[in-house]
Amino acid sequence: MGKGVFQVPQAVNEPIKSYAPGTPEREAVLKAYKELYNSKIEVPLYIGSEEIKTGDTAPMNPPHDHQHHLGDYHKASKEHVEKAIKVAMEAREKWANLEWEQRAAVFLKAAELIAGPYRYKINAATMIGQSKNIFQAEIDSACELIDFLRFNVEYMTRIYEEQPESSSDAWNRLEYRPLEGFVYAVSPFNFTAIAGNLPSAPALMGNVGIWKPSDSQVYSAQVIMEVFKEAGLPDGVINMVMGDPKMISDVILENRDFAGLHFTGSTTVFKNLWKQIGNNIHNYRSYPRIVGETGGKDFIIAHPSARPKQVATAISRGAFEFQGQKCSAASRVYIPKSMWEEVKEYVVEDVNSFKMGSPEDMGNFITAVIHEASFDKLAKFIDAAKNDSDAEIVVGGNYNKSKGWFVEPTVILTDNPKYSTMCTELFGPVVTVYLYEDDQWNETLKLVDDSEYALTGAILSQDRYAAAEATKALQNAAGNFYINDKPTGAVVGQQPFGGARGSGTNDKAGSILNLYRWISPRTIKETFVTPTDYRYPFLGE
Ligand code: NAD
Repeated sequence: MGKGVFQVPQAVNEPIKSYAPGTPEREAVLKAYKELYNSKIEVPLYIGSEEIKTGDTAPMNPPHDHQHHLGDYHKASKEHVEKAIKVAMEAREKWANLEWEQRAAVFLKAAELIAGPYRYKINAATMIGQSKNIFQAEIDSACELIDFLRFNVEYMTRIYEEQPESSSDAWNRLEYRPLEGFVYAVSPFNFTAIAGNLPSAPALMGNVGIWKPSDSQVYSAQVIMEVFKEAGLPDGVINMVMGDPKMISDVILENRDFAGLHFTGSTTVFKNLWKQIGNNIHNYRSYPRIVGETGGKDFIIAHPSARPKQVATAISRGAFEFQGQKCSAASRVYIPKSMWEEVKEYVVEDVNSFKMGSPEDMGNFITAVIHEASFDKLAKFIDAAKNDSDAEIVVGGNYNKSKGWFVEPTVILTDNPKYSTMCTELFGPVVTVYLYEDDQWNETLKLVDDSEYALTGAILSQDRYAAAEATKALQNAAGNFYINDKPTGAVVGQQPFGGARGSGTNDKAGSILNLYRWISPRTIKETFVTPTDYRYPFLGE
């Protein structure tokens, strides 16, 4: 620390701009959108001070207009990944020993750059590259990323303040060292904020690392790197590489200095990475920290006392915003038979009122899904539901990939609580409803709990006893549990996010708990008057 016990600015959530017609922010983001859309960019690898164009490239296309060419990103070879590790380890000593307030300042500055001069660029990049409507882009790439950066700084100081008891003759101190090695951050396509947080949370705590963004998020990932550089992050602290994920992981996970994995993505990929780390355990200097937030099969359960309109709105927003591509999106719903007709009427009305198309047209609530593989997977499950005897399509069910990867928001009704779309994570605008007998409340809670995932879930009920029963019966069914709300929309500093079972290690992104994983505390005891005789009083005659 420098010469003072410094206090950081109090973290506050970034206010969400409305982008309503006539507002200056609407005009500004549309201008940024047009500019980006009509220019071609090349995304290099960021290794130390170098921006490397390898010549081995892949194209970037907006999911809602897949024939449009936004530019290309460069892919790493094995040698580039090795170089990134070397450069990170060379940067480590200086960064790890820099005073915390200097590290804090870099990330606080990054937050303000996103809140101000980079806001429309990062939002427009997220709208274009990940097909988010402006509201979804604003709450993610601007507000949530700003919140991660600001709140993590405050949490870091809280950790540092946590110190052991001392006595007058001995002073005990805890020093929160970064890990002895580098951290590997692997991020998903669906949140620009998560992509920014995965490498920056460990870096804030003094770590260096390699960040591998998703192939489908490189476009906004580049803006994040631009912001970090502008904020003064020293070269080599965060190195961004793209390319074959398996090759990159193979090189990184066999390195002796690999010290931690900060992952968000699907359950299968995470489990395989964990296994690979286990197989390499004898090679490492330290036991690596493994943090992974993974898939979900998030639920809504309505008690017979719930208000049908509220249940319907929780479904329409919870299942379909960002085309259902939130890890928290509702994808299985349990409704009492007596309530269904009314809920169905409202949901069908909502879905029929959704407009779908490019995010540039701000009247569109729904845009495209991320890529062809996702489109094809969703089409397959929708077609199966059309043919299976235990399922029917209530609304939606069409898809069209001629211009973009457009899948209509779809509600499936099933009388089989274990129907495939009640159990498999689809990660798209498809929600399945199962109707239960009104007097089977307790049995239905057991059904809800019986899932390999445990990320988010919601109960809607006017009956307090029923809400209490569900809270207890479903205590292990969700890491983020909502009462009378939709299961999406966690806010940093307010609802720490993460789930257990197959949904992750539940280290709660955007909370103090996550930051503990990126430090290795050293206890220092200093004795003021050092003993000079080994004999204790009990040895006396
Ligand atoms: P994904 O698993 O396909 O990809 C995630 C990352 O892993 C990407 O960077 C990808 O390139 C990389 N990857 C893929 N194969 C790999 C391999 N063999 N070795 C190493 N890395 C590999 O996930 P996605 O489609 O980008 O994101 C959607 C998934 O993420 C969903 O399952 C969703 O539930 C989950 N998710 C979870 C949370 C959470 O907080 N729990 C948040 C966001 C997304």
